[in-house]
Amino acid sequence: MSIRGVELIKAMNHYAPPSLAVDNDRIGLQVGDPEAEVKGVLVTLDVNEEVVDEAIQRNANWIIAHHAVIFHPLKAVRTDQPAGRMFAKLLKHDINVYVAHTNLDAADEGVNVVLAEKLGLQHLRVLISYREEKLKKLVVTVPVSHHEQVLDAVCAAGAGWIGKYSHCTFNVEGTGTFMPREGTSPFIGQQGELEKVQEIRLETILPDHLQEQVIQAMLAAHPYEEVAYDLYPLELKGKKLGFGRIGQLPEQTTLLDFARTVKQSYQLDGLKAVGEWSNPVRRVAILGGSGGRYIHEAKQAGADVYITGDIDYHTAQEAEAIGLNLLDVGHHVEHHVVDRVRHILQRQLGEAVSVFASRVNTNPFRFIGG
Ligand SMILES: [Zn+2]
Repeated sequence: MSIRGVELIKAMNHYAPPSLAVDNDRIGLQVGDPEAEVKGVLVTLDVNEEVVDEAIQRNANWIIAHHAVIFHPLKAVRTDQPAGRMFAKLLKHDINVYVAHTNLDAADEGVNVVLAEKLGLQHLRVLISYREEKLKKLVVTVPVSHHEQVLDAVCAAGAGWIGKYSHCTFNVEGTGTFMPREGTSPFIGQQGELEKVQEIRLETILPDHLQEQVIQAMLAAHPYEEVAYDLYPLELKGKKLGFGRIGQLPEQTTLLDFARTVKQSYQLDGLKAVGEWSNPVRRVAILGGSGGRYIHEAKQAGADVYITGDIDYHTAQEAEAIGLNLLDVGHHVEHHVVDRVRHILQRQLGEAVSVFASRVNTNPFRFIGG
């Protein structure tokens, strides 16, 4: 059975919903055709010519990337220059590129959660929250016989969560009425006769971004030809959404020991640190990528140490001045998410398609020294 691009995109959107991305981020399908068949998928942090060659060699006609291939407006596609050659190669070999950037940073199993998990951080919270989850209430009436089936379906699709409790619903029995008219083929009743049925009014809550899949699951499980349901927005405050995470180490340690742990856990050739090696460390903030502009937020959130990349000289001095320890692990550390994306996609798409993690090292930095 072949899978089309739209189904791959749907799987990615489920994992890293586009609604999580910051405004004006360049995400989604950037090269190719959503209807294109998916022969194989290559997951990568960056796309360059070498990665495209790898995709061709593995017969993967879809690339899932974290960093956009088109960020600034393209001014030219010159095949005597590296970027132009890469685009030409993508098009020539019918390779499609889909990008999940800040939505993947913010996702529940995205870049920052993967990085936090590798360090064993506990009690994770969002570090930089720029949005709150919008919640909706779904009310649907179901004949008693199909109540459990519909309840299970909407909960399996992601409705019914309050905190760490799943299957949160309210149900009350009552009488539904309807009259099937010409052209109907009703599940219960006859055309032109008023029907009274014992039904259950099922109420539950769902996050906005899951609306489509919950409604689809509900309709598929519901026996009626025309289903009566309401969906309304709630004023309740939902979960905080955003990137970066802050959490706690199981035990306090020193900056030096922690830096060694980080280097090993992320398999780094080296890292840069700000702060006294003997400083105590327990609360850890992490933001994969370029997080220099958020040092004050990390400090304010109570972080003993802030792990990020692309720290410049003056930002490092500023962190030192406000008493925030820093570990600059480089931007490339985000590549650790690649294997998680591969795993999640493979699970969602099934065995029909192979999903690969790129083996190309796109980190331009090298280290020398002991
Ligand atoms: Zn990045």
